[in-house]
Amino acid sequence: DAIAVEDFRPKFLARTTMARKAADATIGASKMALIEMGRKHGRDVRLVHPAHTTMDCASCGARTKHALPLSERTYTCTACAVVSPRDKNSARVMLVRAGLTPAGVEGARPLGALLPEAA
Ligand SMILES: [Zn+2]
Repeated sequence: DAIAVEDFRPKFLARTTMARKAADATIGASKMALIEMGRKHGRDVRLVHPAHTTMDCASCGARTKHALPLSERTYTCTACAVVSPRDKNSARVMLVRAGLTPAGVEGARPLGALLPEAA
């Protein structure tokens, strides 16, 4: 019933001002449409700061020192040793940031207090 969306601002993707404006407009429109749809259907849409969603651990909140290469599809936490699919980890990080709790975790706990999932 709640949706967390990356508040994506693709500064680095477009090199020219014109291309950037076009890209920003497209992403802005998609974001607005999603928020509008959510509102219409009574969903709770929350924008999430997009930085480091692929580098943070959804279980313990630790941040890796280096971004994973895109070819690396599995996130392994060096702090708590949790292993999860990269996209799933990022999605959980976003949920936690949005103040939502990933499915299966009871109650709202601050980042860093989440227990590693049982395997
Ligand atoms: Zn961890």
